[in-house]
Amino acid sequence: MSDIIHLISSGHSGSTLLDISIGSHKNFFSTGECTYFTWQLIRADSDIFNKKNGNVCTCLSKLDECSFWQKVITEIKNRKGINEITEKTFPIIVFGEEKYSKTKPLFKRIEKLLFKSLVKYNLKSFALLTSLWERRKIKNLSILYDSISISSGAKYIIDSSKDIFRYWLLKKIDKKNNHHVVLLVRNPKGIAFSDIRRYKDKAKPIAKVYGWCRKYNLTTSILKSLNVNPHILVYEEFCRNPEKELNKIYDHLKQPNIKKLSINTSELHLVAGNPIRYNDEIHIRVDEEWKTKLSPEINDTIDGILETRLKSGLIKNIYNIS
Ligand SMILES: [Zn+2]
Repeated sequence: MSDIIHLISSGHSGSTLLDISIGSHKNFFSTGECTYFTWQLIRADSDIFNKKNGNVCTCLSKLDECSFWQKVITEIKNRKGINEITEKTFPIIVFGEEKYSKTKPLFKRIEKLLFKSLVKYNLKSFALLTSLWERRKIKNLSILYDSISISSGAKYIIDSSKDIFRYWLLKKIDKKNNHHVVLLVRNPKGIAFSDIRRYKDKAKPIAKVYGWCRKYNLTTSILKSLNVNPHILVYEEFCRNPEKELNKIYDHLKQPNIKKLSINTSELHLVAGNPIRYNDEIHIRVDEEWKTKLSPEINDTIDGILETRLKSGLIKNIYNIS
């Protein structure tokens, strides 16, 4: 079976771009935000399917009509003994994400909160107990990965769902597959600036930076509790020299290096992710406009937040924060 590479990052950090870049290697297969597989299947039936709705495969077929996912779907149905893949027969979203079912029952929210705190405070056995409900989904995920593995023949499957709790559960429950982590980090000032550039008056750059600190504090403490040393990839370094950063990952996994990154999106089959996955051509370039255009006020506010809120030593080292 294939190993799984989990890309974990804060939102808007380029995880889809990294997913398809790593997946350009012959031994690797990109799945995008794999956590939305069942959701995309259900949605493709109920909504108008097109690029804008984001509910078509990267190859532009409806998910259940895509030649690749058809193989996966048949494999899952055979393994599970089901005729149809629905939210009921094949749930895979752990702790029910908002996008999946619009209203989350109160007990679900409480369960998620309880689980989060137990993992956060390292009460592993209690956390596993609270997650009993979720075991079925983790088992389904394992079936999904196996089916992708068989259908793609790849040595490594890349999953950019970005969810650290889902990874925690997989690591604890799914002992059958090897799970690796690539921790992707993009400068929060770059994230704040692109938020302002995109949403103008409606932008919430400061809230994004607070969220960024929370995500990496939590992620690195959970990885530490699991004794996992993540492969850290700095987004800006990746944009400067994609091949060099990709080869570090391939070296780590003892896979042959690549000379020149070339991405052909029409051959990809990502379930979900950033719309960049539909672009005919992908040009990776360093975007450091924030260095000159971010207002000094916001710049100083972000520095203040990073100094007081960022606890993770791993991430502090990247940005030389004492
Ligand atoms: Zn496809």
